[in-house]
Amino acid sequence: MKLFGQLLLCAWASPTSIIALVIGMAGLPFGTRLQRRGSTLEFHGGLVEWILERTPIDAVAMTLGHVIWGRSVASLDFSREHELVHVRQYERWGPFFLPMYFLFSLTMWLRGKNPYYDNPFEREAYGDDHPHYRSADAKPES
Ligand SMILES: [Zn+2]
Repeated sequence: MKLFGQLLLCAWASPTSIIALVIGMAGLPFGTRLQRRGSTLEFHGGLVEWILERTPIDAVAMTLGHVIWGRSVASLDFSREHELVHVRQYERWGPFFLPMYFLFSLTMWLRGKNPYYDNPFEREAYGDDHPHYRSADAKPES
């Protein structure tokens, strides 16, 4: 029954996972490497590293459904806890995750906030301990 539930979650998130899987697989002849961790597939190096270096936030890793891209094994190890929160978010939101992510980022930007750090999905993934939130929530001393 647990396996059936996991299969349903993978199917729900699969529209995004499949795109990331195809791009990751396309990178295999060009230096990208693949490893499985739990219910996720992790690609690192080569093509996915090249793509991550060109993201607006200069990302070291990125989650797309049940596929995680990292610049290197070290990048994946460093960011895995954060990325696994995004995997759980994809399992909740399925194909609606990316549209909602961009909608939240746009809303934050229009409100003069940081479209990345103030995005509720990132806020959940970083937790309250991230320096951005500690400084943003700090009240001026009177
Ligand atoms: Zn994130």
